[in-house]
Amino acid sequence: MSRRGTSIVPSLRLSRSICLVGSGRLGFELSDPYDCHVYALDCGSSTLLVDAGCGRAPERVAELMAGDGLDPGAVEQIVLTHAHADHIGGAEALARKLGAEVWAPAPSAATIERGDEVATGLAEARERGVYPADYRLAACRVDRRLEPGRAKAGGVALTVLATPGHAPDHLALVVDVDGVRAAFCADLVFARGRVVLAGLAAADDAACARSIRALAELEPDVLLPGHGEVVMQRAGEHLATALQAFDAGRRPPSLI
Ligand SMILES: [Zn+2]
Repeated sequence: MSRRGTSIVPSLRLSRSICLVGSGRLGFELSDPYDCHVYALDCGSSTLLVDAGCGRAPERVAELMAGDGLDPGAVEQIVLTHAHADHIGGAEALARKLGAEVWAPAPSAATIERGDEVATGLAEARERGVYPADYRLAACRVDRRLEPGRAKAGGVALTVLATPGHAPDHLALVVDVDGVRAAFCADLVFARGRVVLAGLAAADDAACARSIRALAELEPDVLLPGHGEVVMQRAGEHLATALQAFDAGRRPPSLI
């Protein structure tokens, strides 16, 4: 048995092609406590990461991949879902370490390239104690400005869906893989129809409801949010729970 703190923990394999390779305290505590979920999607000839974590321990993502026999060197794209620090802060270090491109929502590409702590909401969130006082956002070059529509990574076709609500620039990725339809929905909606809208200056409840409805129309089986539990089947029931609350004029319960 290895000494405590020195063991290599493998990533969490969710399906043949999808692994969770980073996760913070609002999840599975695989990497830095402030990290969002970071997913690795095997695209055949290459690997794609969804989101990058906050950047306080970017080396953990590569360690977690290696611990599960995944090749960090196969990562060709890091797709950022929206410009919040817990999702984008690790992008620059990870892209450099892995030799990967960074794809980001077109509307926030300039914000990400400046490492803009005001536009991302980090400055205000740090004031409120959401992030440590010494945490800083690393600027990151964006190689591809993602627009809604279709994109291709390796041998896998991605549907890129504009999903404003939690954040105006928010994108979700939908992919048919391993015999199911999986939705990487980041912070749009979480398991059991939870949301994160409170305390965010740019959040928009009506847009959130429309975005969840648009995602539900694609009939995903698997829901892979940016925090909390993952949903490996019957994703539509979790989306319907959120929509029922919106339809009744209520904001769904918050994840946090
Ligand atoms: Zn967010």
